[in-house]
Amino acid sequence: MSVKGMADILPEESWKWEKIRSLFLENARRFGYKLIETPIVEHADLFIRGIGDGTDIVDKQMYLFNDKKGKHLALRPEGTASAVRSFVEHKYNSELLHKWCYFGPMYRYERPQKGRMRQFHQAGIEAFGVDDPALDAEQIILARELLVGSFGIESVKILLNSIGCPACRPGWQVALVDYFRRYDRELCDNCRRRLDINPLRILDCKVQRCSEIAKDAPAGRNYLCGSCSAHHNKLKQYLSDMNIVFEDDPMLVRGLDYYTKTVFEITTDKLGSQSALIAGGRYNDLVKSLGGKDSPATGWAMGIERIFLLSDIKNASEKTVYFIALDEPSKIVLFKLFASAAKRRNCRFDYKGGSLKSQLRRANGAGAQICAIMGENERIADTLLIKDMKNKTQKLIKIDEFGETL
Ligand code: ATP
Ligand code: MG
Repeated sequence: MSVKGMADILPEESWKWEKIRSLFLENARRFGYKLIETPIVEHADLFIRGIGDGTDIVDKQMYLFNDKKGKHLALRPEGTASAVRSFVEHKYNSELLHKWCYFGPMYRYERPQKGRMRQFHQAGIEAFGVDDPALDAEQIILARELLVGSFGIESVKILLNSIGCPACRPGWQVALVDYFRRYDRELCDNCRRRLDINPLRILDCKVQRCSEIAKDAPAGRNYLCGSCSAHHNKLKQYLSDMNIVFEDDPMLVRGLDYYTKTVFEITTDKLGSQSALIAGGRYNDLVKSLGGKDSPATGWAMGIERIFLLSDIKNASEKTVYFIALDEPSKIVLFKLFASAAKRRNCRFDYKGGSLKSQLRRANGAGAQICAIMGENERIADTLLIKDMKNKTQKLIKIDEFGETL
């Protein structure tokens, strides 16, 4: 048995996985995002500092272990902290715009359900060096284009908010603490703890009573400073100009601490409580807090398992040619033809042999469109029988015409 919450991607379905990956990379590349690969294992401290105490990921979901020298390591639970670590480590110039993307496995210890795994995969983009709300808009446009345009997922909803910056968020936090203190006894244990360390988190609590109370909490919108408020308004303008429909949701916060200004989520109603397909936002302080120069940044991550469940992409496979030999000397001639044709096109050789009938049955099973058949008669005449499996037609051709026939 595989480890709970960790699944195989079987050969019958891996084409879809590959297709999602390549559509993601293709679209990201068109917007200028270059692929970065970082290790799956990092120092645990990176995530604790980056994602923050009091978040579900750091408090409950990390896969932690010590290596043989006692180094405290973690399987990465998300991609942004690693990207920032790499950005800082390799001293990228924070005055310039850098656009990166990634695709790979992430690990979180949570209760497995449809669309929620312990090993899951994220595709993500990050951009460093620019605070312009037009860049936030670009990333939301790319996210939407992928979901709707590339993966054919209809009826997605974009939720948007600004959670302010270190200049204005404290005002909101004080107001939240004041508000939630009144419900002290009714909040879950977690949220009561959050009151002291991270009151914004309460807005994201999935416990029913907590989310009921949170509905009437003071909206962060009223506490935004001039700069955050202007940023948010411009972002909304850019999106409206592109006819992108979104919902301005003043209670939206994210499960990670590093966000500033823009946060957003793109959701679906087709996967129960696993409704978020893409989530992200701006994290202008993370680079500095992980030891780099002050550098604004923004990004998002998409859950590939959820895309996999919902996407209707088709497998446009190329034609398969199936090689059938009816005796041993023909097999030797035909195998040479197969081995050279397979360098250029989709070919299968029937190694099991046997009667024509049984080989044709296997050709059907393999989804072959064309069979190239050789028995004693064909071999002696330097010919091949080409059978079109769909039209049920067949013709005899000379071996040296084989290349053109295909
Ligand atoms: P959720 O609210 O569903 O737990 P999240 O807020 O923890 O999501 P992020 O950390 O922002 O999610 O990750 C971005 C995306 O990664 C999510 O929108 C989702 O599509 C996907 N994702 C997150 N956790 C999992 C998981 N355990 N299994 C599969 N996909 C996941
Ligand atoms: Mg989560």
